[in-house]
Amino acid sequence: MSEHQYRICVVGPGSVGKSAITIQYLSQQFVSDYDPTIEEYYKNTIYVDNKVAYLEIFDTAGQDEYKSLRSYNFQSGDGFLLIYSVANRKSFEEVLDFQQEILNSKDLNNVPIVLLANKIDLDEKFHVVTKREGVDCASNLGCSFLQTSAKKVINISEAFQECVRLIRKQRQSKQPK
Ligand code: GDP
Ligand code: MG
Repeated sequence: MSEHQYRICVVGPGSVGKSAITIQYLSQQFVSDYDPTIEEYYKNTIYVDNKVAYLEIFDTAGQDEYKSLRSYNFQSGDGFLLIYSVANRKSFEEVLDFQQEILNSKDLNNVPIVLLANKIDLDEKFHVVTKREGVDCASNLGCSFLQTSAKKVINISEAFQECVRLIRKQRQSKQPK
């Protein structure tokens, strides 16, 4: 596999915006009614810090009935966008389960993960998870953190770029001395 190839899995509970973020990133469109059962694979070439990155992006479906497929995808992922919705506390509470599932399938301690607090465009009165909680969670898990909106296009390309940077860092640390 080429050192310039990056497999990024977009994971998290249902309805948090995994597909909306992926499609906004790749097609500059906000989809409000994407089929929640579709698990799709995309390719994209970008430059991060002036170096080419051939992305393979898996938009996973979070349903339990797809668990076997899910762990297969987790296994093949070099990095992960782990998403919750700021308007859904249960989705935030499930972040830990997903992180555990990622670590189990990767057999590594240090896996590149970017935690995304999505739907920050929603009115404050719908926010049930605070930024502080997100920041603390990310620091406990040892991952990066960004607040995102697929609808208003906030931090969407940044999320993928950050993931590429984390993967590069991890690959460098694995190189023989
Ligand atoms: P998935 O199951 O995680 O793939 O979630 P979807 O991408 O299908 O999104 C679930 C619902 O949340 C859809 O109605 C989306 O339009 C909506 N949604 C996704 N991202 C955002 C966002 O950033 N802001 C708002 N307001 N709605 C969003
Ligand atoms: Mg989806």
